[in-house]
Amino acid sequence: MGIITEVLKANQEYARNHELLHLSPRPRRKLAILTCMDTRLSIQTLGLKVGDAHIIRNAGGLVTEDSLRSLLISHHLLGTEEVMIINHTDCGLLNHTEAEILERVSKSAGTEAISPARFHAFTDLDANVREQMEKLFAHPWLPQEVTIRGFVYDVQTGRLREVER
Ligand code: ZN
Repeated sequence: MGIITEVLKANQEYARNHELLHLSPRPRRKLAILTCMDTRLSIQTLGLKVGDAHIIRNAGGLVTEDSLRSLLISHHLLGTEEVMIINHTDCGLLNHTEAEILERVSKSAGTEAISPARFHAFTDLDANVREQMEKLFAHPWLPQEVTIRGFVYDVQTGRLREVER
């Protein structure tokens, strides 16, 4: 049985009670978090509950055209007022160069990579967080009232460390 089949069964179970039925689409704590898709990152490590925040995730936790789109909707249409950018130690994008990732994906796929054009590998974690913050500070559609703060999550200690602008 594939995992998706297992998930479908579990969903049938969940739907009997559907405990999350009454959640609002507007995050209870008016928080948006942009972070990596890494399995070790979780709302659990932040003391948050389902419904507290928007969690926007991609490989790396990067401000891209698409995550920016989500953050703008989060603030302007769904009322979030603070943004946390969280990158983390031992990130897959940190441990390999752009060329290495491209080569590995091409090799795995058996063909030259066509899209995406870039995987956005990076070498300096703090600098990368700062770069993401700057993209948001510079964006004319994110007003100054929106709090934007950047962090590195240490997967060994479980602690967040703030990165100053
Ligand atoms: Zn990562």
